[in-house]
Amino acid sequence: MNESPAPVIHWFRRDLRLSDNTGLREALATGAPVIPLFVFDPAILTSDWFGVSRMAFLLHTLRALDESLKDYGTRLLIRHGQPTPVLRELIRETGAAAVYTNADYTPYSTRRDAQVHDALRPVPLHTFDDVVLHPPGSVMSGGGKPYTVYGPFKRRWLELPKPGVRAGAIEGRQFHPLDGVDNPGIPTLETLGVHEKPVELPPAGEAIARQRLSAFTDDAIYSYRERRDRLVPNPFDDPAPLGTSYLSPYLRFGALSPRQAYHAAVSAQKSAPTTAARESVETWISELIWRDFYLHVLFHNPHVLRTSFQPQYEGVEFRAAPDELERWKNGQTGYPVVDAAMRQMNTIGWMHNRARMIVASFLTKDLLIYWQLGETYFMQKLIDGDPAANNGGWQWSAGTGTDAQPYFRIFNPVSQSQKFDPDGDYIRYWVPELRDLDAKAIHAPWLLDTPPKAYPPPMVDHKMARERTLTAFKAIRNE
Ligand code: FAD
Repeated sequence: MNESPAPVIHWFRRDLRLSDNTGLREALATGAPVIPLFVFDPAILTSDWFGVSRMAFLLHTLRALDESLKDYGTRLLIRHGQPTPVLRELIRETGAAAVYTNADYTPYSTRRDAQVHDALRPVPLHTFDDVVLHPPGSVMSGGGKPYTVYGPFKRRWLELPKPGVRAGAIEGRQFHPLDGVDNPGIPTLETLGVHEKPVELPPAGEAIARQRLSAFTDDAIYSYRERRDRLVPNPFDDPAPLGTSYLSPYLRFGALSPRQAYHAAVSAQKSAPTTAARESVETWISELIWRDFYLHVLFHNPHVLRTSFQPQYEGVEFRAAPDELERWKNGQTGYPVVDAAMRQMNTIGWMHNRARMIVASFLTKDLLIYWQLGETYFMQKLIDGDPAANNGGWQWSAGTGTDAQPYFRIFNPVSQSQKFDPDGDYIRYWVPELRDLDAKAIHAPWLLDTPPKAYPPPMVDHKMARERTLTAFKAIRNE
């Protein structure tokens, strides 16, 4: 009798694609039937950082993955509960001989995986590096230390040989048909007990992610350096938007791999028509390096999720100002560019990078409110909300992060607005109260003889706020 081999499980997490998926390919390479699994972990559903729109985007991404798996005669198996008992039970039910997965590097994920690894013994948990181009531990200084500054990290990162895209079809490989295995299918928000409404979402899944990547690397990547800081009202409205790539939600859940993104950029670089175009591609690759960098920073310095990267800044006297925090959240600060950006995030679950820096600087420097309150709000609202990139971005903006002496970097919200939204289109789109103002008046409407009644005056004077922050930071530096 020809006995079929025991199945193996591929446990999907933030690698929700079939193409170029390291752990999945290793699972398929065993020749055993592969059970594709996703687990809804209650720890994520009950976290302070839970965001209804990001969860809805995750559900859409899972649906797309499930559709693709149908072509291989299987479905995405869904389970609910803590990973260890869920996996134990599934192994008991199916006789699975091993679990494959791609490593994640946040403190929660590393703890969880260590626990699962021990609890499943003797069934092995095989983990692979997949979510970054170079995993933590592989980009180290000459002295074997992790980098804490982006510049030298980037130089070392660029020297390392890059992993290729694992191309080629997975046809002919065997997925487990899941006959007789109970599968409740992909839940809805309601069945997860979430009754809040998500924002309107961009389309999800790996096919659309790859389409967007190739549209970007065919064209907009060549003008990225020049256009990346221009504030774009709603990139999801436009099938081929210029500016940045808008790939962050896809990279967040692994509908796209960083290797796919990197190698598409390298190909674009080879066919760049001009030196400027080639340099523009380099600038975009630098952003992928920032993505790796912050993940390394978090892995090597898990304290950053609780306190400042530079602990001395915990001594700054930040202000407790819940009403001001609310005005910031709701886009009612009276600074048009700040309000446009916050309304953009509240409405589409995404915010332009320049706008993220502007609003983060405003909260932490103009209002002198502790960065973690902004970090949490971003996690609740962003569909690309990512612990490492978000924490890195917030600590950079607050001046408590990996930069050497950055606390005096205080953005002027008016000049940022004039520079990065010169015609005022971004503001006009998100702040309809100011729709009728011209490009000159729109950045500081309070200077008009008769400012629009429906829009609030600035909640704080920038010049005073700047001095207040410099004083607060200098106090702990004894300057
Ligand atoms: P592009 O400019 O096209 O860049 C390509 C990719 O590189 C992005 O999709 C992203 O994966 C990565 N990337 C770009 N910039 C950064 C950066 N500074 N740090 C890390 N990765 C980067 N990015 C997130 O993915 N999730 C977050 O939760 C997040 N929170 C942020 C919070 C603040 C306060 C700041 C200042 C930045 C934050 N960023 C975050 C980084 C950045 O704003 C977004 O990655 C970017 O706006 C996404 O748009 P894009 O895909 O068009 O980026």
